[in-house]
Amino acid sequence: MDLKSKIREINDFPKEGISFKDITTLLKDGESFRFCIDKIVEDLKEKKVGIVVGPEARGFLMGTPVAYALGAGFVPVRKPGKLPAETVKYEYDLEYGKDCLEIHKDAIVKGQRVAIVDDLLATGGTIEATAKLIESLGGQVVAIEFLIELEFLKGRERLKDYHVNSLIKY
Ligand code: IMP
Repeated sequence: MDLKSKIREINDFPKEGISFKDITTLLKDGESFRFCIDKIVEDLKEKKVGIVVGPEARGFLMGTPVAYALGAGFVPVRKPGKLPAETVKYEYDLEYGKDCLEIHKDAIVKGQRVAIVDDLLATGGTIEATAKLIESLGGQVVAIEFLIELEFLKGRERLKDYHVNSLIKY
């Protein structure tokens, strides 16, 4: 299936020089959406995943159907101040400034096998932070799955200690 043709590219969004990969055009195509979820599920089938973690917000869209298909639980990772119960935080550097992600402290049990699912791998900063949060709770990151990988940003090198899979590469 030609998945790339379902991704809409928008030049100079959110700022000049960026070619934004818009996944909404793939998501609204039922056949393509199901195909992508099935592919991710297939890669995770033998990994005995107990929990799927998805970072806000597009990680929710990709992660929840994967969790459902695997019969695994789903845990959200969110921007600060959104999760209601006690959280752990991880602060990480961006090109300009800092960002922070949170997870509920009781979301993952020590030794639990966790897969991270997100829409897109760019520099890998978001997912590195997500993996650190999971590991700080004692979870074991057994796989990381993306719909899209921007290979020229070399995010995979940052995640070299993990099993990383992506469906569409630029
Ligand atoms: P990273 O932390 O640099 O790997 O950035 C990845 C995050 O930025 C993902 O969670 C994406 O949702 C978002 N992102 C970056 N570029 C794009 C894009 O072109 N399309 C959609 N999301 C993007």
